[in-house]
Amino acid sequence: MSIQEKPYWWDTARLETDGPAMPVPERADIAVVGAGYTGLAAARELARRGARVAVLEAETTGWGASSRNGGMVLTGLKLSVAELRAKVGRELTAEMYNASMESIDCVERVVQEEKIDCTFSRCGHLEVASKPGHYRRMAEWAEGTAREFGREVRLVPREALASEIGSRIYFGGLVDEGSGGLNPARYAAGLADAAKRAGAAICEHARVESIERAARDGAAGFRVTTVRGQVWAREVLVATSGYTGGATPELRRRVVPIGSYIIATEPLPAALAAELVPRGRMIFDSKHFLHYFRLTPDGRMLFGGRAAFFPETQDTIRKSAAILRCDMVRVYPQLASATVEYAWGGTLDFTFDMLPHAGTMDGVRFAMGYAGHGVAMATYLGMKMAAAMAGEDVSLPFGRVPFPTAPLGLYWGRPWFLPLASLWYRFLDWVQ
Ligand SMILES: Cc1cc2nc3c(=O)[nH]c(=O)nc-3n(C[C@H](O)[C@H](O)[C@H](O)COP(=O)(O)OP(=O)(O)OC[C@H]3O[C@@H](n4cnc5c(N)ncnc54)[C@H](O)[C@@H]3O)c2cc1C
Repeated sequence: MSIQEKPYWWDTARLETDGPAMPVPERADIAVVGAGYTGLAAARELARRGARVAVLEAETTGWGASSRNGGMVLTGLKLSVAELRAKVGRELTAEMYNASMESIDCVERVVQEEKIDCTFSRCGHLEVASKPGHYRRMAEWAEGTAREFGREVRLVPREALASEIGSRIYFGGLVDEGSGGLNPARYAAGLADAAKRAGAAICEHARVESIERAARDGAAGFRVTTVRGQVWAREVLVATSGYTGGATPELRRRVVPIGSYIIATEPLPAALAAELVPRGRMIFDSKHFLHYFRLTPDGRMLFGGRAAFFPETQDTIRKSAAILRCDMVRVYPQLASATVEYAWGGTLDFTFDMLPHAGTMDGVRFAMGYAGHGVAMATYLGMKMAAAMAGEDVSLPFGRVPFPTAPLGLYWGRPWFLPLASLWYRFLDWVQ
């Protein structure tokens, strides 16, 4: 069987909603740009509070990272607690870490309330040490997490690792039972259904081309022009993450689109699957150029990584599939003869300080910058931004740090520096 170059998850969910038939309304209270977790969670929350919401999506519901990801619902942020403290200080670190924990509860609550059939479970995550020094660093993290946040995460020494992973290449690991896993595309579809049930209009194939301030009937607001017509809205939330484009140039200068790629094997025999991931956890390693992997509910090995730095094209997907297959067999020699059935890519939204950001720029609200930790955080920040737009006094730690652009401002949306960054991180993985 030849490899299907599309997300495996797309074959498990019904993502397209009303297609081009849903007209772009002439007027709304809130226009949301982008129908991923951020936009959909915000739309659901706003519509439940009685607002007229129009979600404007360039492609189809969940088309971006939200239906392509690993489905890992992770505690913490991209930066470790030590890195966060060095960057934003002790108080904000505590707020950000607590927000990450709250964000997982938030996903769990939404899934339960809306009865979203997305196989959510609190299966925990396992981070595996790629080098002996990384395991020593994990021991420091475990100690810091207990001391600072009163949370127990568990170290697994190399000799006990077989109870957690059927691979011999790692030097120990760290288990955090607070994390979870889900089917990302079904979660996106479920969020969209919930938003629609609450009254939001989801307009697909309605790429936003511009957002301009425009008063109407004496009220301040915005004229949002899409390829399928204009909508006037009192407020706008931009939720475009790694796919942020020219309609919001100031945000585009602050978000770096980075490719991440995944392969999925055929369904594995149950005994083999249980040997590879005995406790069904979400797994990732400790490198900068990391690998992340898990079993799907039907027993496939889903194996991802930053095999190419650039966003997805047919060429990068093919090259990445070959690289990831070799990497997967290095981790799990047991999979040498397993057939890879799917390969795909998606675009992550990194920021120059590696932190998520949420706030207001030029009068327009935004939330983005999840750097590979967006399943829970995008849901959470979408809902928080909705509460803020509904008039609640919301103070987010991610809104209290400046949202930087590139050093010297030398970036307008084409990430020319990615090859250099790629070399730098490969170098760090080699020496650290
Ligand atoms: C391969 C991969 C693996 C990942 N794995 C994980 C993981 O395991 N765990 C985790 O926590 N995170 C993971 N992530 C990150 C996570 O998927 C994202 O952070 C999250 O989905 C972001 O959601 P979002 O709604 O902000 O953006 P997206 O889901 O990317 O949605 C943005 C939407 O905006 C639309 N859009 C863009 N421009 C316009 C416009 N002008 N007009 C209208 N619409 C527009 C796009 O079409 C897109 O649908 C992964 C990401 C990728 C790519």
